[in-house]
Amino acid sequence: MKNVVLLGSTGSIGTSAVKVAGDLPDRIRLLALAAGSNVELLLDQARTHRPEAVCIADPAKAKALRDSLGTATEVFSGAEGLLKLATLPGADIVLIAIVGTAGLQPALAAIRAGKDLAVASKEILVMAGEIVMREAREHGIRILPVDSEHSAIFQCLDGKPSGSVRKLWLTASGGPFRNTPKEEFPGISVERALKHPSWVMGSKITIDSATLFNKGLEMIEARWLFDIEMGRVGVVVHPQSVVHSLVEFVDGSMLAQLSTPDMCLPIQFALTYPDRVSSDRVRTNLAKLGSLTFEEPDLEKFPALSLARRAGDMGGTLPAVLNAANEVAVDAFVNRRIAFPQIGEIVRRSMDRHTVVAHPSLDQVLEADAWARREAAL
Ligand code: NDP
Repeated sequence: MKNVVLLGSTGSIGTSAVKVAGDLPDRIRLLALAAGSNVELLLDQARTHRPEAVCIADPAKAKALRDSLGTATEVFSGAEGLLKLATLPGADIVLIAIVGTAGLQPALAAIRAGKDLAVASKEILVMAGEIVMREAREHGIRILPVDSEHSAIFQCLDGKPSGSVRKLWLTASGGPFRNTPKEEFPGISVERALKHPSWVMGSKITIDSATLFNKGLEMIEARWLFDIEMGRVGVVVHPQSVVHSLVEFVDGSMLAQLSTPDMCLPIQFALTYPDRVSSDRVRTNLAKLGSLTFEEPDLEKFPALSLARRAGDMGGTLPAVLNAANEVAVDAFVNRRIAFPQIGEIVRRSMDRHTVVAHPSLDQVLEADAWARREAAL
């Protein structure tokens, strides 16, 4: 039985994780749940799963939760509350599924308290991969990837060291604009960008999938998770999203992990690792799928990949700047203040103007994050 703290329980990953816990009541206990603002859904989840504690970002909303849940469930709020949940004495593993950077401090607190981490929020490793991985090594805890691509690589590597790897290949669906001519990019509407061909996800990651910044963030995430330099992390476009990623080994063999797309699978794998637990949720019929295709990404149309490679190669505070500037630019696009191609332009401009700090402390990472948010908003 794993006691799981789920941060971001009301989101796309969070609700899938709740489904997985519902599938495996003998394996997974939801010890604590945290949400941003969706009190109704959090309450609903708490009534079903009876966690020891819940947390809501807005302290004003905590009272409604207390009134409804009584004394059996402790109610926390804000950033402090997330830290409490992440370090609950009874927790075995903390699943970070909060969008954006709010998951970073709870992730570090969980590591220091000796909890394993399941990481969906790629921002954590993009911003502070060096720090997070160092702390994880020092505290002897496991970092289990939830992102489907990284879960695939983790499964294919199966403990092999980076020295046995020639290259990690992240697959990318190519997003909704894979076949859209670059000249049409300025006219792309928010509604079109929010329609992902293969996955239903939160709005930030869906826009990131349309710009391919999602893949860029994943390249940096892979660099840290698997302790491999950026030059050995490649991207191949695979529109069917069935091959979730591949490892090319030094002897020329390639291993891939395949399934029809369903985030419940990598979530379950992370929460039940190292076991494989029976589930009927995912069935893949290869004959029905017919063909799987692969192509080179178009670096001209999607500058995100080159920007991410540059940020990952340079390291230091530059990935945090890329991440924060992208977050601000995506928000501006979703709120119709900028056009689609400006997302990449804003990120590039912020990166160009940044003075990189090598091997930054957490404070320096957070300063770079705040600096980039101001810069990108100009
Ligand atoms: P969503 O936008 O669907 O959900 C975000 C979750 O975070 C919600 O539960 C939200 O609560 C919660 N939240 C936001 N701010 C806070 C806060 N300050 N305190 C506590 N909870 C907070 O995002 P996704 O589930 O799509 O993505 C989550 C993370 O997982 C992202 O980093 C994304 O990149 C990553 N990821 C997502 C995948 C997917 O398939 N969706 C795949 C791989 C990675 P509320 O709704 O109540 O406001």
